[in-house]
Amino acid sequence: MTPRPPCAPQPPRPPRLHHDPLAGRVVVIAPERAERPSDSGAADARWAVPGEPCPFCAGQEARTPPAVLRAPADPALPWHARIVANRFPLVADGPAAGRTPEDRHAAVRPARGVHEVVIESPTHETSILALTPPAWRDVWQLCRRRLEMVAARDDLAWATVFKNSGPRAGASLAHVHSQLIGLDFVPPAIEAELAALASCSGGVNRLLAAAEAGGRVVAEAAGLVALVPPAPRQPFETWILPVRPAAFFHAAEPASVAALADLSRAVIGRLERLVPEVEYNWWLHQAPFAAGRAAAAAWHWHLEILPRITPLAGFELGTSCHVTTLPPDEAASLLRGAAAR
Ligand SMILES: [Zn+2]
Ligand SMILES: [Zn+2]
Repeated sequence: MTPRPPCAPQPPRPPRLHHDPLAGRVVVIAPERAERPSDSGAADARWAVPGEPCPFCAGQEARTPPAVLRAPADPALPWHARIVANRFPLVADGPAAGRTPEDRHAAVRPARGVHEVVIESPTHETSILALTPPAWRDVWQLCRRRLEMVAARDDLAWATVFKNSGPRAGASLAHVHSQLIGLDFVPPAIEAELAALASCSGGVNRLLAAAEAGGRVVAEAAGLVALVPPAPRQPFETWILPVRPAAFFHAAEPASVAALADLSRAVIGRLERLVPEVEYNWWLHQAPFAAGRAAAAAWHWHLEILPRITPLAGFELGTSCHVTTLPPDEAASLLRGAAAR
């Protein structure tokens, strides 16, 4: 057999899901993501040619796939937010024909779903605080609409939007953006939350009452509350959720979506005042599309905001327990005191 020349094109290697039933762990093996562009100084930064424009800036639209959704919707107007397919997806979209429910528990199977990028500004901003409040509300309304479209597909089970802000949080490009992902299975974190909700008397009302009594409420707006959770994994971890049960963010009223935009902006503003240039992740948790009636009636969709201040080390990775230096009530007090003056 003739050895492959070093520069021969490699056949495509689509992402696959590897399932470890003993660890309860799912890992996406996605070799092609090693090729993705980066300006973060990460190991895959070789595409960041000095002087080459950022692919997310206005004027560079030809370097991304076409928009699946944009704001404003009228293509004759300049965009201020757009959602495009991720060129380096964690999951591949495609026909679901031939799959059976048993496939979902296979040790190795194709990773299927949608994986998109939400480009949140036409200009090269690196913080959401550079966007005006109305523009930031439009970003969240756009995400809600796209999640609603994903939820209407009968081959997908769950969807989220998440943000990596800063290299330590996993961002490969600095231009403000989030990612939207729809999966054909319910991830372990959501299964665990469903199980905890079913076994905890009082459910989310208990969490809300304890936050109120414990001085852990940071801010409130239009039926939503921002609070420091009882066991934060990092200093200033904050969750935003509706006070009344609401299983699906994609079904939220425009006023709730606007309130989420305003509260997320306020929390990040306060965080940046307390920890300049803070890096962080956030992710949306909502119910599985096929959640049972009881689970759907008790669930509150929520945004979990996790600052990346201390690294995850052996204890955290080995035990799923965390260590933090800041008590949650003190974190909430500092966040309340850091409101814009
Ligand atoms: Zn840019
Ligand atoms: Zn959650």
